[in-house]
Amino acid sequence: MKINGFTETLRELELGGTNLGASDGVDWFANGAETESLSPINGQVIAKIKQADAGDFDRIIKTAEAAFKVWREVPAPKRGEIVRQLGVALRERKDALGALVAIEMGKIIQEGRGEVQEMIDICDYACGQSRMLYGVQTHSERAHHRLYEQWHPLGVVGIISAFNFPVAVWSWNLAIALICGDVCVWKPASPAPLTAIACQKIFERVLKANDLPAGISSLVVGKGSQVGELLLNDKRIPLVSYTGSTRVGKRIAEVVSKRFGKTILELGGNNAVIVTPHADLELACKAILFGAVGTAGQRCTSTRRVIVEASVYDNLVSTLQRFYGKLTYGNPLDEANLVGPLVNTGAVDLYFEAIETVRKQGGTILIEAEKLDFEGGCYAKPCVAAVENSLPIVQDETFAPLLYIIKYEGDVINAINIQNDVPQGLSSSIFTNNMIESEKFLSHAGSDCGIANVNVGTSGAEIGLAFGGEKETGGGRESGSDAWKAYMRRQSNTINWSEGMELAQGIKFD
Ligand code: NAD
Repeated sequence: MKINGFTETLRELELGGTNLGASDGVDWFANGAETESLSPINGQVIAKIKQADAGDFDRIIKTAEAAFKVWREVPAPKRGEIVRQLGVALRERKDALGALVAIEMGKIIQEGRGEVQEMIDICDYACGQSRMLYGVQTHSERAHHRLYEQWHPLGVVGIISAFNFPVAVWSWNLAIALICGDVCVWKPASPAPLTAIACQKIFERVLKANDLPAGISSLVVGKGSQVGELLLNDKRIPLVSYTGSTRVGKRIAEVVSKRFGKTILELGGNNAVIVTPHADLELACKAILFGAVGTAGQRCTSTRRVIVEASVYDNLVSTLQRFYGKLTYGNPLDEANLVGPLVNTGAVDLYFEAIETVRKQGGTILIEAEKLDFEGGCYAKPCVAAVENSLPIVQDETFAPLLYIIKYEGDVINAINIQNDVPQGLSSSIFTNNMIESEKFLSHAGSDCGIANVNVGTSGAEIGLAFGGEKETGGGRESGSDAWKAYMRRQSNTINWSEGMELAQGIKFD
């Protein structure tokens, strides 16, 4: 397949040299400061962006509030049809948008296309879900009364996304929120404004083709400390869906809950793979390799820790060394490469600082990292270190291809206890062909994470199940299963079709 360069990709996605960063789905405007989007591939400016200011933000929210009153009147399956059309439009631009993801944040083109495929999948899923926004009904204790529950839309949903899934996070939220009858305002991450503008342009065509009013899907490009803070503090936004670091997530939780707003929090992980003596080691190492170095270690579900039983430790380390030795590095637009750059120079610096800290805290480096000087980009080789789980650095999420190997002895429950002994609770997996070990891992006394897999790595979830994690990962759920309920408000209804006024619990009041 021919891969276009920067210029062709921008042209195909209708992006120019300078782009406006605020849109209500019909008009584009922006009165804030100009910023540049740099590519981690070579450090060059891809394009410029005029950011939104406070006035633009206010305009967007006013328009969104008005659009909500129209959108909530559209029957849910018809809302699903609009989301289906977004899926069709994304199919048409999958290669270009996947390439822009690679150009702007550095993940390899195969993963960039995979991210767009995930957007398409959630559109299909949401379209079907639009006919299944079920509430329960139950029997009343009173004669000729009916009890039932229904779900109503919330209003304006604020979406704040992380840089590492610059397009998929928006679609997971948008597709489900829209079929629920909400309207959306998206503030993308600062390293990836162009992918956001491209997505908004793709959806804009669908909205216009269906004569929909401004405000159903809006975009505000700006700094977290400016536009992001406006969004958190705005009472007109009943739900903020935030994906990003635990540090910022704590602030989001505090500010939004103080005004009794709702949040969906998708925060950092510290994901482990347990390898028992009953594991297929080659299979485990394949999953660990993708988990640890895929997206250059910048997935919330990236494998950070391997907890391996003592008798298979040496074999696992030598297999990993062999696998790591075969990795190919370089331009993420070249399909021959498996590891592209980190997102920016700051991320590379934090990575090498973390490796120094591992050494200082007593860890032993098993596979050395190394800066790679390709085209002036942000490339580095991954690192593997033998550590104790209790090291302060191991308890933290380092958002880079830094993998820790931790030894355990005895029963699998010892490995599970080590796995759970971190503040985060996103993704986890066990490699074993022993049914008792895997059942222990999946039981109530097993993994404490939102995601627990058997003979599958920690990263690469499908959209069909709810996605999210426990503890400092924030407790939010997005995507499939019944995650749609977070985008709606529940209403319990009692209807009296008798001719009297009977009270519940047998109370007499006359
Ligand atoms: P980040 O926390 O630096 O930024 C995330 C978003 O928050 C950005 O859009 C940023 O502009 C915004 N922001 C920053 N300060 C803000 C403020 N005061 N008010 C409002 N918004 C503000 O995270 P990042 O570096 O972009 O992404 C990496 C992190 O995201 C990692 O910790 C990763 O694990 C996490 N993540 C989690 C999931 C998940 O589903 N659990 C998915 C992807 C990424």
